[in-house]
Amino acid sequence: MPLADYHLHTPLCGHATGEPAEYVAVARARGLDEIGFSDHCPMPDLAGGAPFDDWRMRPSELPRYFEMIEQARANAAPFPVRLGLECDFIAGREPWIEELAGTADWDYLIGSVHYLAPDWDVDNPRHLSRFTASPGAVEEIWTLYWRAFADCARSGLFDFLAHPDLVKKFGHRPAGDLRRFYEPAIAATAASGVALELSTAGLHKPVGELYPSADFLALTHAAGVPIVINSDAHAPEEVGRDFDRAIAAARAAGYRASARFERRARRLVALPD
Ligand code: ZN
Ligand code: FE
Ligand code: FE
Ligand code: ZN
Repeated sequence: MPLADYHLHTPLCGHATGEPAEYVAVARARGLDEIGFSDHCPMPDLAGGAPFDDWRMRPSELPRYFEMIEQARANAAPFPVRLGLECDFIAGREPWIEELAGTADWDYLIGSVHYLAPDWDVDNPRHLSRFTASPGAVEEIWTLYWRAFADCARSGLFDFLAHPDLVKKFGHRPAGDLRRFYEPAIAATAASGVALELSTAGLHKPVGELYPSADFLALTHAAGVPIVINSDAHAPEEVGRDFDRAIAAARAAGYRASARFERRARRLVALPD
């Protein structure tokens, strides 16, 4: 299958299992022709020295990450193993991403919106009650999320944007036509030239759907935004998971190609049938 999986985690983030070599083995067994690791980016410690949160490597572990991927790459050669990072887009913290961008020869940097405010990561089940805290809560959370998503696109810091409608993870959606949220975000994405992830991870979350929804994907295709199909694997057996469903959704939206990245240069490769 001429496809890559560019959103793979490592045990350094504290909530993924399996060594990179095991991810490579599954990718090969499933017929992928390229993979890339993109663990959660380190963030500077909080004032007082506490870690930023409990689901990422510490800044001091970044060299270990480079070593792990370098070793996986050497062992897998000539099978391509790319070096990426899933960066948290947080307004005001752009200089940190710029600093990270200079620390390695990245093949790609992923922009992810998880944080809507300090200590408010929208996909963390510990905040689930916020979605039902008031009648307008879901509308408010969606407004904040999509505003951040558009800012993330406009930042110009990233090669593609992860799990576009992550805010639906637990199944909460405002009433009515959701294009009022999608359209400004897609306009910002198209204007910036950044690509977008079609992620199979959502199929295994309460929402039970691909990220993004079919409606969203049809709009991004119409806007000329390229896609990348990824699993967001946190365990080896998740590499390339449900890619048949992602390919079908991409084709239904009009896509005939997906993007590849090397040293932050993008090219398009035809989708498998
Ligand atoms: Zn994760
Ligand atoms: Fe993420
Ligand atoms: Fe991820
Ligand atoms: Zn992710």
